[in-house]
Amino acid sequence: SLKFTIDGLKANVEGKEILKGVSLEIKGGEVHAVMGPNGTGKSTLASALMGHPKYEVTEGSVILNDEDVLDMAVDERARAGLFLAMQYPSEITGVTNADFLRSAINARRGEGNEISLIRFIRQMEAKMKDLEMNAEFMHRYLNEGFSGGEKKRNEILQMLLLEPKLCILDEIDSGLDIDALRIVAEGVNALRSEDRGFLIITHYQRLLNYIQPDFVHVMMQGRIVKSGGPELSQRLEAEGYDWIKEELGIED
Ligand code: ADP
Ligand code: MG
Ligand code: MG
Repeated sequence: SLKFTIDGLKANVEGKEILKGVSLEIKGGEVHAVMGPNGTGKSTLASALMGHPKYEVTEGSVILNDEDVLDMAVDERARAGLFLAMQYPSEITGVTNADFLRSAINARRGEGNEISLIRFIRQMEAKMKDLEMNAEFMHRYLNEGFSGGEKKRNEILQMLLLEPKLCILDEIDSGLDIDALRIVAEGVNALRSEDRGFLIITHYQRLLNYIQPDFVHVMMQGRIVKSGGPELSQRLEAEGYDWIKEELGIED
């Protein structure tokens, strides 16, 4: 089983406080959606959890089961089972997708427990087939010249192969047409299990028709200001965020 607890997390980017005390608990089997206007710190939250060096945590705690995540280096977090499907995946020339994936899998499995080449290729081919990705993507340089939608599918491919404990998806739906969205959502849903949790950042209710969340949280100005069930995302879709601002007396 899984218990992931974020408590009072504050983080700075270039000296400016962006996260102003985020608290959230994710248990095994749960899908949590985080919604909110642009620039409210959603991607910052994802980056801070992953240990990105630009995002300086100043207060709070992050605990994965009994382990202190904030004490871990970036690679230790990945090994512990944290994964981020990025909003803007980077292109890496000179490293093929297959090479990258194999090193990522081996980093997660640890020394002495590396995956065999044949087994890796078999798994990669199977998951690419599930995601309806052309086999040529195996040998292309990582994300280089990939369309927006192809990058997103490739992030999900990584997730399917790494089988993380906590999957963070940052706007995985942006740039996806409706067929790609369904395929990506099926990939996510296939991974749902009692020993895994999901944090899904999105602007749009549409994704949540395919990946049904257990909880929906609204983030504004670096805080989670409201939490509820799926009905909350439906209301946001219909009415926007103004009613929450009014309810809470938040100024723009
Ligand atoms: P969201 O994902 O909710 O749209 P972000 O977390 O990307 O918002 O950004 C929150 C705020 O932090 C914005 O004002 C943004 O400009 C700033 N910010 C985030 N990342 C960086 C960065 N790497 N450098 C400078 N400012 C950043
Ligand atoms: Mg954004
Ligand atoms: Mg963002």
